[in-house]
Amino acid sequence: MSIRKLKNYINGEWVESRTTTYETVVNPATKEAMCDVPLSTREDLDHAATVAHEAFQIWKEVAVPRRARILYKFHQLLIENKDELAKLVTLENGKALSEAYGEVQRGIENVEFAAGAPTLMMGDNLSSIATDVEASVYKYPIGVVGGITPFNFPMMVPFWMFPMAIATGNTVVLKPSEKAPMLMEKVVSLLEEAGLPKGVFNVVFGAHDVVNGLLQHPDIKAISFVGSQPVGQYVYTEGSKNLKRVQSLTGAKNHTIVLNDANLKDSIPAIVSAAFGSAGERCMAAAVVTVEEGIYDEFMVELTKATKDIKMGNGLDDGVFLGPVIRQENLDRTLNYIEQGIEAGANLICDGREQLDEAGFFVGPTIFEGVTTDMTIWKDELFAPVLSIMKIKDLQEGINIANASEFANGACLFTNNASAIRYFRENIDAGMLGINLGVPAPMAMFPFSGWKSSFYGTLPANGKAGVDFYTRNKVVTARYARSDV
Ligand code: NAD
Repeated sequence: MSIRKLKNYINGEWVESRTTTYETVVNPATKEAMCDVPLSTREDLDHAATVAHEAFQIWKEVAVPRRARILYKFHQLLIENKDELAKLVTLENGKALSEAYGEVQRGIENVEFAAGAPTLMMGDNLSSIATDVEASVYKYPIGVVGGITPFNFPMMVPFWMFPMAIATGNTVVLKPSEKAPMLMEKVVSLLEEAGLPKGVFNVVFGAHDVVNGLLQHPDIKAISFVGSQPVGQYVYTEGSKNLKRVQSLTGAKNHTIVLNDANLKDSIPAIVSAAFGSAGERCMAAAVVTVEEGIYDEFMVELTKATKDIKMGNGLDDGVFLGPVIRQENLDRTLNYIEQGIEAGANLICDGREQLDEAGFFVGPTIFEGVTTDMTIWKDELFAPVLSIMKIKDLQEGINIANASEFANGACLFTNNASAIRYFRENIDAGMLGINLGVPAPMAMFPFSGWKSSFYGTLPANGKAGVDFYTRNKVVTARYARSDV
């Protein structure tokens, strides 16, 4: 039986791609084929970029409060359709429905923030910089912007990009992940209902051909990328070479430090959720936990107990916390890393291979202890429900281990010691820090980005930096003749 083929959304119409190559989108919890996604061609991308460029000439002239009003309407529609959106996230990504609701909520918050564009786009002025001379800053959109997004947050990550981009007067060509493309159909229908004019938001499904088109098309002025480190590095270098503004948010290996005075009743559930939520397929996942030796034994007993209680299964089912990983290749990669950890001499204390379930791409929560910084399982971003534990003698050793990683996205500390918290904040290499919480993902009004190999660019996503990324300034310096009146 043939399955439905997705179409691209260009100039307010669903149009068939010119490609002959399609990839099947499967439900990772059941392996059921849900639709075919086109791996669109350069011609498809060129068409979308040209349309978006034409739409920009009109959209940039629309008064900022009018643009914001469309976002208010969109925001209301998102709230009314929350259940359907969350279900779609679980269907195509596999994460538990409760997590999908959290993701949808995060997306909605980005629209709330972007609807503040009339305030966020205000410039500055100084009425007197010299005798009879004043200076003012005005903010303008930059043109057509391209978005390239990963599979792990099919809703939240695109929402870091297009609401602010269109609120500030740009037009958008988005290339969602080919592994989780279906949610965008629903999002487009809500944008249409909210009254967004044709051509302002366009979606071209595909893979590297579309990405290369975005990186090379002369009408695309900026690129927002979120995905893995090698691809993010390529997008940043190639986009910059083509003189585009690029923000590239990439991979992670987040470290959590637990000190002797940590409250285990609160920290264990937070760490279990951060390590195994979304099957570890989160850029803010807790990948390594370093535990001070005084609390180590008690921590391990409690951690193992809590991990054994995790319910794995289809994310749509009640009480399920751990869903599948996204594809067979991700499952194979996870099993390979578990083998590598064993071969390197790490101690496997929870073996997710005991819970493999052929119905989907399932692997149970896995914990290694005795991990060292020369092991691949410590170095690489595993992006899987596999947690590494290391014993440390003090906070400094925990910081040294974390700072030795090439990645520096998030880092967490569990303690009630104020001096330790300050020392951690001042000395850890990471862009997003959590104190006594497991996933320190900043809200929409704050910037989202890591350091080192976790981020390439100058202006990160969200917050005021996001406004700056999607705008450019004119500074007017004006002399006025002195009035006789
Ligand atoms: P990915 O890099 O495989 O894909 C991301 C996007 O790039 C997709 O749209 C994909 O089609 C495209 N792409 C993939 N290979 C390409 C190639 N060779 N040339 C051009 N384009 C290509 O990432 P993924 O597996 O979808 O997502 C997981 C990664 O995303 C993880 O590394 C995770 O840490 C990262 N991520 C980072 C953040 C952050 O804020 N730093 C947030 C979410 C996810």
